Formats: sequence, C-alpha cells, structure tokens
Amino acid sequence: MIERGKMMKEYRAVLKAVGLKATIQRLKLMEVIGHSGHITVDDMVVAVHESHPSISVATVYKNISQMLESGIVVEIPIVGQKSQYELKKMDHIHLICTDCGFVEDEQLDIAFDQKLNYAVTKDSFLITRSQINLYGLCYNCQTVVK
Ligand SMILES: [Zn+2]
Ligand SMILES: [Zn+2]
Repeated sequence: MIERGKMMKEYRAVLKAVGLKATIQRLKLMEVIGHSGHITVDDMVVAVHESHPSISVATVYKNISQMLESGIVVEIPIVGQKSQYELKKMDHIHLICTDCGFVEDEQLDIAFDQKLNYAVTKDSFLITRSQINLYGLCYNCQTVVK
C-alpha cells in the first residue's frame, strides 16, 4: 500500500508535467481513478462526492476531458456499456467482461509485443497510440451462465 501523501505528490508531478494546474478537483479525480483502477464517470462522481460534495458533475466531465487530452487519463471503450477510465500506465492488455463490465489489466508479454511491432513495421506503419482490449466473460459471469 503506497502512502497517500506520496501518491498525491506523484499526481501533482504528473499534472505539472503536462502543464495542468494541480487543482483539488484534478487531484481528487486522479486519486479516485488510481484507487479503483478502471472506473466510469458516473462512479467517479459518486466517489468524489463522498469527500467533496461541492464538486459538480460538469466539473468532473470538464476535468476528465482535459486530462484525456493531456494523455494522463485513458478511455477504455466498452461495447454496449459506458466507457471506463484509467490513469495512463505501462502498455497492457485489457480483459473486459461484457456482462458485468469488470476490466482487468494483463501484462503485455514481450514476445507478443515484438510480434505485433514486427507485423506493423513491415508495412511501414507508425503506431502513435495503442490499446488492446479483449472482450468476453469474466470468471464470475461464466459461472452464472453454467
Ligand atoms: Zn463479469
Ligand atoms: Zn488498464
């Protein structure tokens, strides 16, 4: 468990690095997103309101869109459901449950990464952004089906 003060210091540095002011609203949002891993805007609003009920829904949306533009927050589109958001991390794969919306991070294996890089560089394609999402049913949702 990383100490909160240290985390906040890190979030401040991340915001500063992309030229955004480290406002209470942005720091709180980063804390909420970082804490849950992947979260919808609706759930962010609920979590933010637990400690800061005065932050409006419009403010949450405005700040999320600014942090998306700066690339420090990443959107994970989920077919048929609301998008979830995460803090920018090392490249990884998402295992997304289309039933309950659970999103799990899976480490990108080096051999797979190299293969993928080879596949695109041989066609002279330049990757500027990537996100690999695999959709299916999580363990819990599979057991419900059975
Ligand atoms: Zn599920
Ligand atoms: Zn993720």
